Amino acid sequence: MTLSGDLLIGGANVRGAAATFSAINPANGTSMEPSFAGATKEQVEKAAALAWDAFPLYKETSLEDRARFLEAVAEGILALGDDLVLRAIEETGLPRGRIEGERARTVGQLRLFAKEVRDGRFQELRFDPADAERKPVAKPDLRLRNVALGPVAVFGASNFPLAFSVAGGDTASALAAGCPVIVKAHSAHPGTSALVGKAVVNAVAACGLPSGTFALLFDAGFEVGQALVADHRIRAVGFTGSRRGGTALMKIASERKQPIPVYAEMSSINPVILYPNALLSSGADIGRSFASSLTLGAGQFCTNPGLIIAIDGAGLAAFIESATAALSESQAQTMLTGGICDAYRKGVAKLAAASSVSRVAIGKDGTSHQATAALFETTAAAFLANPELQEEVFGAAGLIVRCQDEEELRRVVESLEGQLTIALHVDAKDVVAASQILPQLELLAGRLLVNGFGTGVEVSPAMVHGGPYPATSDGRSTSVGTLAIYRFLRPVSYQDFPVDLLPAPLKNF
Ligand code: NAP
Repeated sequence: MTLSGDLLIGGANVRGAAATFSAINPANGTSMEPSFAGATKEQVEKAAALAWDAFPLYKETSLEDRARFLEAVAEGILALGDDLVLRAIEETGLPRGRIEGERARTVGQLRLFAKEVRDGRFQELRFDPADAERKPVAKPDLRLRNVALGPVAVFGASNFPLAFSVAGGDTASALAAGCPVIVKAHSAHPGTSALVGKAVVNAVAACGLPSGTFALLFDAGFEVGQALVADHRIRAVGFTGSRRGGTALMKIASERKQPIPVYAEMSSINPVILYPNALLSSGADIGRSFASSLTLGAGQFCTNPGLIIAIDGAGLAAFIESATAALSESQAQTMLTGGICDAYRKGVAKLAAASSVSRVAIGKDGTSHQATAALFETTAAAFLANPELQEEVFGAAGLIVRCQDEEELRRVVESLEGQLTIALHVDAKDVVAASQILPQLELLAGRLLVNGFGTGVEVSPAMVHGGPYPATSDGRSTSVGTLAIYRFLRPVSYQDFPVDLLPAPLKNF
């Protein structure tokens, strides 16, 4: 399929009239065809106006029609075949297996949300019947349903070019809720975005939906995203990226005449707490698994295990020895963009230069476009004294915090910021100690896991991919799994409505 580099507005290809940019192949730094043209302020407004016009029609589509639309998007993505896979590989440096896996996840998510829509429970329909005889005052007829918030702006993620980009989890859950979506493509993979965007536009047309149900915008800078978040017709935002980017958008959203929710998934170092008995019985195995999780996808997962917390001893020594051996053999990997690679190198250099931090392992060198894994260690006292050691280094870098005893471990945990995941490694003899810290962990993270690592996020009804700030902007929500739909809904109560005036789902109690 030939790429035009155009915006997709109102179901049509529209040439952007702002500055142009091109995708850069992160494996060799070369620029790729075609050039993509950014949207002007007027073009952003046009997309928002069309989304606003589409909203009343789209939100009242039958559950069956909406589910079929989501399935049509999934089929359209699969129909792109290898064109999509090859472009995504070239734009992200990710290997074929990863891109194909992500495509399967993206299609699976769309189908899961289609099922969720057909099921209809997300509408939360409720009926409290009237009671004219109730004393001292009659009870009204009250019916409730969840309604869609309105048009949603979605920011594609650099590290999930399919599963969290144009038709990824944020888009799928917003469309499932009944919200039109305008995507601001991530500038690192515009071609991949354009291909998927076209599949969504085709599905909109094939399903007879209003053309403003979906739009795709490009930008060489930040203006388009900022204008979208500020636009009065946009009613919620889905974002995955840096804390700096997420908080900039939160600020714009909160300063609007009508502030709106921003669901931003930002930064997390996903602490892993290693308990003494687990370390004594299987420290070496845990070390090997940790090294695999740390280096998976060049460490470019929001759930990458960046922090190890453990009590000093022979078990920890075995863990460090095996993690060091595995990491020393790890190959350097291409990162998603030159900017992300530079940021990783700076983060590693900052850790290396921090006082009381020492390097325990380093991976193999690669090309100038590749990043090398690194593992550091420090003491609990130094970690507690230096909050900068909690900053996310996006990539395959880890820090071990050596604690003297359980009390010091507890204080390290207490000092942590909000996280997406916290993992515990325990054996039967550690359960009492772990149970004592559990209430604290529940306050800190969206997902707690035992004897594993947070990389690998199951898309399912019981998944939470969220957590207190700064992991996300709103720890009450998840961006993965079916619960994600609730981010784009709000409850409305209908009191004493004549049946003819009630919305269709509330008529038939
Ligand atoms: P990013 O810089 O936050 O960018 C994400 C999206 O937001 C992009 O579309 C970007 O536009 C836009 N954006 C960024 N700052 C903005 C601002 N001030 N106003 C309006 N729009 C803004 O994230 P990234 O490009 O994915 O990666 C950069 C860094 O983010 C990484 O080095 C890493 O530290 C972190 N990161 C974290 C996670 C995580 O899950 N924890 C995931 C990915 C990245 P452009 O497309 O024009 O850049």
